[in-house]
Amino acid sequence: MVHAPAIFIGDAPGLDFLNSIATPVDTPVDWIDDGEGLLRWLEQARLVPAEALESVAAHALPGELDTVADQARSLREWFRGFVRRHKGRPLAADALAELTPLNRLLEREDAFSRIIPRTGDGSGPFQRRTIRRWRTPEALLLPIGEALADFVCTEDFADVKACEGPACTLLFADHTRGRARRWCSMALCGNRAKQAAHRHRLKAQRQ
Ligand SMILES: [Zn+2]
Repeated sequence: MVHAPAIFIGDAPGLDFLNSIATPVDTPVDWIDDGEGLLRWLEQARLVPAEALESVAAHALPGELDTVADQARSLREWFRGFVRRHKGRPLAADALAELTPLNRLLEREDAFSRIIPRTGDGSGPFQRRTIRRWRTPEALLLPIGEALADFVCTEDFADVKACEGPACTLLFADHTRGRARRWCSMALCGNRAKQAAHRHRLKAQRQ
């Protein structure tokens, strides 16, 4: 099934992964509903290089990518539980005990590094780059695991919020000055709320 472009409003890749199921209009959309969806979401999220996606897809056995998409959805819903439990206040050290499934995923890493010509800033002609082997379709879960781990290690959970839209499930990290962000986006929920408030005012005036 071909969906509209996925939603990237989380201001953190780990939250964008949670937002890969959402209700942008009236019907819920799961962008990771099968293997093909997973490939397209990873491409849009820029978590896996296009040539790696092509190569994994070309070598996958029938049904294999769908199985990985099932695992990605399980990982997503497990992580959603963690974020929901801890959002709104700084993460405490004892939360580590809950992160065992994520550490288990990270342990599967099968990467190596290589010295290559320097492409970015820095001194000297070389830099070291980590390269993934992408040997099996399950390797597609590793960059997701890294995004979740980076999120846990770098994000202030006090800034993690759920959109205030009544039917909205989207999560975001509020990096605005004053931490005043309330909506996933003006286009999706902000305007809807403004219109509802406007209708409410009109009704009150008429009464
Ligand atoms: Zn919203």
